Parts: sequence; C-alpha cells; structure tokens
Amino acid sequence: MDIKNTNISTQCVQAGYLPKGSAEPRVMPIVQSTTYKYENCDALAAAFDLQAPTPIYTRLGNPTLSFLEEKITTLEGGVAAVTTASGQSAILFSVLALTKSGENIISLNNIYGGTHTLFASTLKNMGIEVRFVSASATADEIYSLIDDNTKLVYAETIGNPALEVLDFEKLSSIAKKADIPLVIDNTFATPYLCRPFELGANIVIHSTTKYMDGHATSVGGVIVDGGNFNWENGKFPQLSTPDESYHGLIYTKAFGKAAFALKIRAGLLRDIGSTMSPFNAFLTTLGLETLHLRMEKHCENALKVAKYLEGHEKIEFVNYPLLESSPSYELAKKYLTKGASGVVAFGVKGGSDNAKAFIDNMKLATLVTHVADVRTHALHPASTTHRQLSEAEQIAGGILPNLVRYSVGIEDVDDIIADIKQALEKIK
Ligand SMILES: *Cc1c(COP(=O)(O)O)cnc(C)c1O
Repeated sequence: MDIKNTNISTQCVQAGYLPKGSAEPRVMPIVQSTTYKYENCDALAAAFDLQAPTPIYTRLGNPTLSFLEEKITTLEGGVAAVTTASGQSAILFSVLALTKSGENIISLNNIYGGTHTLFASTLKNMGIEVRFVSASATADEIYSLIDDNTKLVYAETIGNPALEVLDFEKLSSIAKKADIPLVIDNTFATPYLCRPFELGANIVIHSTTKYMDGHATSVGGVIVDGGNFNWENGKFPQLSTPDESYHGLIYTKAFGKAAFALKIRAGLLRDIGSTMSPFNAFLTTLGLETLHLRMEKHCENALKVAKYLEGHEKIEFVNYPLLESSPSYELAKKYLTKGASGVVAFGVKGGSDNAKAFIDNMKLATLVTHVADVRTHALHPASTTHRQLSEAEQIAGGILPNLVRYSVGIEDVDDIIADIKQALEKIK
C-alpha cells in the first residue's frame, strides 16, 4: 500500500522509516555516525556531485534525518524536506535561499516573537529588508508593498501568540499575482490540522520543537518544499542558473520539483551547518507517531478551557479561533475544520500584574517558555517572549500587557479547569 494514499493518522504512525528485509529493526534506528564508508574514490566523487542521494557527512544529511524528513514530507504532502537544528534556522534558511542583501520580503506582523526579531534585526543587519504588514490589511495594501526586489511572502497559519488564523486565499492570491512564493510557518496547526500546500503555500516550515515532538524533549526545525513553484520565472537565478560553488550545477535542471530543498541542503546546510542531531530526530519521530491523537485531545481540551474562561468574571477577553466571539472564527471554520490547536490566549482583568499573579498561582500548569507539548503551560508574553519589542510593536502584534498565553495539554480537562479556577480565585 502506498503510504501517500493513506489517511493522515496512518501516515503519522507509519510514514518514513520502513524495514526493507527480514530481521531489520522495526523501529527507526539512530544512525549516530558523522561519516559513511565508500568502496572507492569514484563512488564518493559521485556522491559529492549529488548524483547519488547517499550520505557523505552528517552536516549535509544522515539516514535517521532522512527518515524523519520523509515522514514530514508525506504528512505535509510536499516533495522533499530538510531538517534543521531549530525552527529559527529553518526560517532563516528559507529566507536566505531566496533573498540576498538589497532585496526584501513581506511578512505579516502577528508572528512568533523570535521570528520577528530575526526579521527586524538580524536580517536587517544582513541587508535584507522585511516589510511588515498587518494581517487585516487588504490584498491591495499588501500588494502595494511588493516591488521587483521582493522575493517571498511570509505568514503563520495560526499567529503566535495572538492566534489570528491566516486568510490563505488572500495571501496566496497576492503571492501568485506577484509570482513569488508563499512561505508558511505551520508550527501551531501541524499538518494534522492544516495542510498549507493545499491552500496555495509553496514552502512550509515548522519548529518541530512544538507539537511535532510534543513532549518538550528536542529543539528542531524542518523546511518542506511543496514542489509547486516555478523557480524559472526569472526572479530566482540562484536556483535557475549555474551555481559556481557546485561547478555549474543548476538546481532546477538537476532536481526538478525539489530544487528548493536541494538548494537548502547543498548550499545552506553545507556552508552554515545547523544540522539536527540524529537523536533529536529519533525523539521527534516518536512524537509524530502520536501526533493525530495528541492534536485531537489538545483541541478538544482547549475549546473547553476557552469556553470556561469566556464565562469567568475575572477574564477580560478570550482569544481562541474556534470561539464564536473570535475575530478569526470564520477563517478557523474554513481552514481549521479539525480544531484550532491547544493554544489559548486571554486577558486577565486588572492588567499586567493580575496576569502575572494568575500564572504565579497555578498549581497544575507550569510557567515555562514553551508551548505545544503534552503538559499544560502558561506564559506572560509581554514580559518574556515579546519583551524585546517596543510597546507599540507589541500592541501591533496583539501582545497586550494583560495577555496570558496558555498552552492546554492533554491532561484531564476537569483538572486543568480546576487549576484555572483556583488560580483566578486568589487574584483581586
Ligand atoms: C517556537 C517557534 C519558532 C522557533 O522555533 P525554535 O525551534 O524554538 O527555534 C518559530 N515559529 C513558531 C510559530 C514557534 O512557535
């Protein structure tokens, strides 16, 4: 049975590693080796020429990483994937593969705080300008920011942490009209809840650190190539003309639909590193085997928690895409039919001090700088993850001073709600 034709729950369990013959390990092995033996110099030379997709050196690829990449490619419905040491390096590589100094990209401004600083500070220092725009801007307003040097449009399926659901139709039509790729960070939704390639995306990235691992054990990232963008449109010579650092290799000619993924591997992973460790790939794969079950439970628990909070007198607002009161409700109904993840954002009445007091009073949920694992957690973004932004930037990104980002785990929801109740009772 071709795994590509099975349902996503089956793919979570079985895609990727498959034992080939008798007495092979049933579970994906960890190939903890930096090096690979070749029979003769010509065989190794062919591998260096990228003629044979065999491992040479683990910075560029490793069998365990390949199995995880294959699993995620199948889950997202792409053509190839490259794992990286973190979500941040996946994002950086996606931009660097397509953009150079003097050029620019468009990004929604409601994105993860770490990505925002990467874009506004590090990329800026490298001479790449990021033109931030509000998710509520019209298609024409966004389109007017695009010029001949604009190389991609960047957005998150569910913005972290304001939880705005992306209007895929609007963004993909803008990217198509400008003939530049739409790059989507699908970390919060995971391919179980949303498959961006079916909605017009061309590249999908993940911080696998979150729901994919799901148990808070491994930092990691992945870039998935949708194989659905024409890189030979004249805007991307780095993919469609000879690469002198690979003695004249033309990625689009040599690798067809997977040209972008190979450019990331043979260019950026080779030169910069940021390779995922095989052990982290093993743990991430183990996590993915239960992604479908965990996401169902995260979503079910989160909707109950959101409804409870909405009825509570000490809560000023609750933001969860599948609450009817959410500004994203219509988009969530359209794009997140299976659920809207475990992340809930809410404002505690009485401002920043009460938001922090609520978190300090929690007994079951813990205060950690993390979201999207099996345990329930909370965080105060304004004083932590989004601390580096100015107050104006915070508010533009939906980070109000009394905002709590609450990551609902897969414990019994009655216990989670009892914990919220007691923590709110203690604040004035
Ligand atoms: C955490 C996160 C990242 C960064 O990933 P790391 O694995 O921590 O480097 C990027 N995007 C989103 C939406 C995230 O939640």
